[in-house]
This record gives sequence, C-alpha cells and structure tokens, in this order.
Amino acid sequence: MSTPPATYEIQEEQARRPHLLGLPREQLRDWLQDRNYPQFRIPQILNWLYEQRAESFVDMSNLPKLLRQDLADSFSLWTTRVIEHQTAADGTEKLLLQLWDGGRIECVLLREEGRRSICVSSQVGCAMGCVFCASGLDGVERNLTPGEILEQMLRLQRLLPADERLSHIVMMGMGEPLANLDSVLNALDVARDPNGLGISPRRITISTVGLPKAIDRLAKHSTPYHLAISLHAPNNELRDRLVPVNAKIGIEEILNAAERYFTATGRRLTFEYVLLAGINDTPQCAEQLARLLRRHVSMLNVIPYNAVAGLPYQTPSSNAINTFRNILLEGGINVMFRQRKGNGIDAACGQLRRNRTSR
Ligand code: SAH
Repeated sequence: MSTPPATYEIQEEQARRPHLLGLPREQLRDWLQDRNYPQFRIPQILNWLYEQRAESFVDMSNLPKLLRQDLADSFSLWTTRVIEHQTAADGTEKLLLQLWDGGRIECVLLREEGRRSICVSSQVGCAMGCVFCASGLDGVERNLTPGEILEQMLRLQRLLPADERLSHIVMMGMGEPLANLDSVLNALDVARDPNGLGISPRRITISTVGLPKAIDRLAKHSTPYHLAISLHAPNNELRDRLVPVNAKIGIEEILNAAERYFTATGRRLTFEYVLLAGINDTPQCAEQLARLLRRHVSMLNVIPYNAVAGLPYQTPSSNAINTFRNILLEGGINVMFRQRKGNGIDAACGQLRRNRTSR
C-alpha cells in the first residue's frame, strides 16, 4: 500500500494548476464555455470567493456538484499555508504564510476606528537593500503571482467578522511592488472590481522606493491608485546610504516622476520618511526636507522606526521627533506622524519571517 503524499506535495500539486484567484476573467469565461456551463456562473463564483468568503469549492452550494468538482480539478484556490498567526492588543493581526515552494511572506490586518486596512507583500524578500528594513536583508527570492497576492488579501478578509469589510489596501508588505508591477496590477484589478473585493482605488496605496520608469508606467495605467514614495532622506548623500538603489537613480529623478504621476492622475502624493535616531532626524534634515517637498502637492508620512533585531538603528526620542515635526510644520509641510501599530508582534514588514526562518 502506498503512503499518502505529504501536505507539502499536495500543495505543490495544487500550485501547478492555475490559481483561480489570479485568473483573468476571459480565461474563466472560456473555461466555462468549453465545458458548456452558462456564463451566469461567473458572478456566482466570484460572489462565493470575495463576498461569501468560501473556504473551498464544496462550499459553493448554488453551483451544480459537477461544476464544483470540475473547478476543484482544474484550479487551485489556496496555495499557501498559515505558519503563524499573531494578534496584538490593538487588534492588529499578522500572518506568516508559506508558499507552495517553501518561500515565506507576511501580511497584516490593521484595525483603526472604521477602517479595516491590510498590508500586503509583493515579493518574497526584496532587492532594494534599504539598510534598516528586515525584508531585504537576504535579497529577493522571487516575485509573487497575482494569485498569491490576492490570497493574502482573502486570508486577511476571512479574519474579519461577517459584517465587516476590508476598506483599505496598502502594498507595503515585503518586496518592491514596482519591481513586480504586472502581478500587482492584475491583483489590484480584482481588489477594486465591484464583483471582487470592491475597494475604491482611492483607498489602495502602492508604496515604492521610487523607480521612475515604473512610476511612469503606473501613471499611464487606467486606474489611478494612491502612490506613496519612501524617501527617508532629504539629500542624495544620505539616501544613497539608507536606500542603496538610490545611487543609480537620485532624488531629483524620483521627484520628477512623482510630479508626472500627480499631473497624470490628480492624486495627491504621499512621501514616507522612517525616522532613524541620529541619522535622518536632525533639524538640518527637517529643514532640507521642508525645502525639498514645498513644491509638491503632497503629504508627508513620518514613521518612527520599528527596531529590527540585529540592526544598529533606533527610534528617535520624543524630543527629537517633536523638533523634527515643528520644523516641518513651520515649513508649511502637510505632515502626519504615524502611530506605531502592532506593538508586541514583529510588526515591521519582514521581521516575523526573519525571526522564524532558518534559511
Ligand atoms: N518597497 C516598498 C514597499 C515596502 S516597505 C517601499 O520601499 O516603499 C513599506 C514601508 O515600510 C517603507 O516606507 C519602508 O521604508 C518602511 N519600513 C521598512 N522597515 C521598517 C521599519 N523597521 N520600521 C519602520 N518602517 C519600516
């Protein structure tokens, strides 16, 4: 008698089938047509996946049994396994997912008043090499597929009670979304589709280290998403040190691309600035930053550093943070100091994976 296959082999076998979540609509249409199923099954299937939060094809009770079986034989639905699920006192929940090939990614659900926001990964690891970030310490392993990006969204959605909906998405998990733009855009097509998750593009943010060519591509895309640029330094000398990829690009080129994005979409830009004690939190940095951003219709999001074990960086004192804030306010900058969420659960992207990985 043969032994049953290990879970891992089952997952691999499933992952070889097309992922239903990332499947372009036309392909689902053709698939149904080839098997003589009527097209009205499409909204029913989507409703089960995105609205009713079905866990398996068996759950899709208004579909004929044969169709459910056919779907199960042709497509995979869940290709990831939840390795760890952490919950913080403030309601933030974080999942560490293992992909079918062993790669690991993280995604987070944040609860703030009426908002239910999720932070989603776009790659396994990251190639950008920001020196303070846990995600990129070992480089990038691979891009995520649209199905794997959507799977994170649905796993987080299923943590909510039935009467709560996801309201916001930020592509701020592991990876550089603009280095995997096709998959990110395909996944977001489903996220904003009224028959998908139905989240307005105004509530979807793509966060980037600043890759000008990809920003220009995004500006031409039919849907104007909210763009956030991770600046972290007001001059190239400092930014080259903190965000190594900057050495090949430069702040000026990034700001020009950001401005073109604003002109093309009319969407106000967001700049992000992680405050690192004694490095980019000086009054001089604040003054330079105020001068740099003055000409842009933008919002500056200052994020206190979330310490990463093994890295030498620290969160600034509240004194330093206040001085930094006042200089920017006096400089007329629209600035927000983001509250840290998820204290007590390795909340900064890449931390949980790093603490649990043996590779
Ligand atoms: N690669 C993209 C998106 C992922 S990072 C980007 O660079 O924008 C999302 C944001 O989290 C970035 O602004 C990043 O600099 C910030 N970040 C990374 N590690 C952090 C940490 N330990 N503490 C606070 N913010 C961090």
